[in-house]
Amino acid sequence: MKSLSNRSKVVSDKNMTLLEGAYLPAVVKGLGITLKHFFRRPATLKYPEEQREFTEVYRGKHVLKRDENGAERCTACGLCAVSCPAEAITMVAAERKNGEEHLYREEKYAAIYEINMLRCIFCGLCEEACPKEAIFLTKEIAPADYEREEFIYGKDKLVEGVEPAKRIDVSKRQDR
Ligand code: SF4
Ligand code: SF4
Repeated sequence: MKSLSNRSKVVSDKNMTLLEGAYLPAVVKGLGITLKHFFRRPATLKYPEEQREFTEVYRGKHVLKRDENGAERCTACGLCAVSCPAEAITMVAAERKNGEEHLYREEKYAAIYEINMLRCIFCGLCEEACPKEAIFLTKEIAPADYEREEFIYGKDKLVEGVEPAKRIDVSKRQDR
């Protein structure tokens, strides 16, 4: 049958010559390919010393944002969890007490907020669903680990710091 791509090769079943039987031509050909690639610029990077540029739309590890006064924005409404196709988000809501206004912006807040990073597919739907601009995906890579439990990110890993130096700038994403 005629090949559609015209790339098919007829396989010969003739006996190998002595030279072919010693695999010398194949070895020399293989070494030639190795030498050719030896002088090429490698496609890999020496991570983490060297880092690759990400595109503007890259979505990495999440951050739970604070407002301009340092209070947590999340009101534990659960919309991010409901919109998550991987069911990676869980939370426990609590009521804000008197005197906690500087900690939590709304009357309800997430006492526990967890993302299972092994489930997350970094789709960004949680960010889009959030009515409080509380959750964003950053350019940070979620680091590798050996234990599955380490991939359950709680508020200790997700909420940004209060100090200006520890804030995570997501202004480019907020504009969208
Ligand atoms: S990025 Fe997507 S998969 Fe990951 S937690 Fe958000 S909604 Fe779920
Ligand atoms: S992160 Fe946003 S959507 Fe998710 S519970 Fe908090 S306020 Fe609601």
